[in-house]
Amino acid sequence: MLHIYENEQLALVRESARQFAIDFIKPYVMDWDERQYFPLELFKKLGEYGFMGVLVPEQYHGSGLGYQEYITILDEISQVCGSIGLSVAAHNSLCTNHILSFANEAQKEKYLPKLATAEWLGAWGLTETGSGSDAGGLSTTAVREGDYYIINGSKTFITHAISGDVAVVMVRTGAKGDKKGVTAFIIEKGTPGFSSGKKLDKLGMRASETASLFFDNCKVHQDQVIGNEGDGFVQALKLLDGGRISIAALSLGIARGAYLSALRYANEREQFNQKIYDFQAVGFSIADLATKIEASELLVRQAGQLKNEGKKVTKESAMAKLYASEVAVEVANESVQIHGGYGFTKDYPAEKFFRDAKLCTIGEGTSAIQKMVIAREIRKDA
Ligand SMILES: Cc1cc2nc3c(=O)[nH]c(=O)nc-3n(C[C@H](O)[C@H](O)[C@H](O)COP(=O)(O)OP(=O)(O)OC[C@H]3O[C@@H](n4cnc5c(N)ncnc54)[C@H](O)[C@@H]3O)c2cc1C
Repeated sequence: MLHIYENEQLALVRESARQFAIDFIKPYVMDWDERQYFPLELFKKLGEYGFMGVLVPEQYHGSGLGYQEYITILDEISQVCGSIGLSVAAHNSLCTNHILSFANEAQKEKYLPKLATAEWLGAWGLTETGSGSDAGGLSTTAVREGDYYIINGSKTFITHAISGDVAVVMVRTGAKGDKKGVTAFIIEKGTPGFSSGKKLDKLGMRASETASLFFDNCKVHQDQVIGNEGDGFVQALKLLDGGRISIAALSLGIARGAYLSALRYANEREQFNQKIYDFQAVGFSIADLATKIEASELLVRQAGQLKNEGKKVTKESAMAKLYASEVAVEVANESVQIHGGYGFTKDYPAEKFFRDAKLCTIGEGTSAIQKMVIAREIRKDA
């Protein structure tokens, strides 16, 4: 935890999120992971604590907090379970924040109170089987018919595709390659022609639900368009600037959880009649991990600070996400190593951090894509 950013408010939020994770998540983590069970009931409780509408103003029944509090909540939850951290991040940063940032007043009043209290769970669909990193190449189409749009196609890898009550989806309304050719729609569960697929069987983040969305002549009223027709791709890119802060915070929490487990273990385990921490190889390794986690937190907090100030964070959020996610993978890997053979078993949390961490270098833009974004942004300063 970085003391330069901590204040009384953050300390209270930290304590509340930490206690929540200990009471309502920790006892069930391995069961949910093994059964790949998505604990929908837990998200209702997260809603009661204000963790599902962190950035939503109080007028829409949200917590009205800023990015530093949001980072802290994700950090604490992800130290205990990355899957729950990922779902909290997707609900807050993607679906809810898309509506908060770009929807009209009527749409905000209709959807934000339900999302912020977790009465409804949100999903957000950009990725398709043929377009992941190249998100602008999406081919799900919407064709206008009077006051309605007819949507056909599918989305893949969508968090909460099955349990989500409402989804914000990016759909083609213009030519491929045209930045103004994509439109964002709000689509409610139960809309005829809108359905979801089978839950994906994943390496990690197994308690976070991931599946496809299908659109088969799905008829959606024009009132469900967010902003204007053609605004969807630019909205998505802007949204991901903030979304990447949440994946960076998720990475930070996973790294810290894996590190704390290694630290504890190294101070308990004895070989050659001494604590393994006292072997310089182990002590130095843990020193490296601690240093990299603090560096991650500085980058994440910096991006959060700039976002709170309403500044553009394209470069800073990409840097935070790139660094923190790669550090999470490194720390989780080293944590398994420090646990030795026990780290390879399900008796210790190290193996789960190891599996969950990998998503962080992939979701909301792979590390290669973060480097493309950073390279493009820093060239502007040259
Ligand atoms: C658990 C999980 C949850 C997700 N949740 C959501 C969600 O809620 N909503 C949503 O819309 N999406 C979601 N995604 C999708 C995720 O954002 C994509 O998987 C990610 O953007 C990568 O796309 P892809 O899988 O198609 O990989 P690809 O784009 O096919 O990439 C494959 C490889 O090629 C590399 N590559 C691609 N282009 C370039 C390039 N130009 N230069 C160098 N290397 C390149 C990549 O770095 C990667 O290593 C989720 C994914 C997962 C696994």
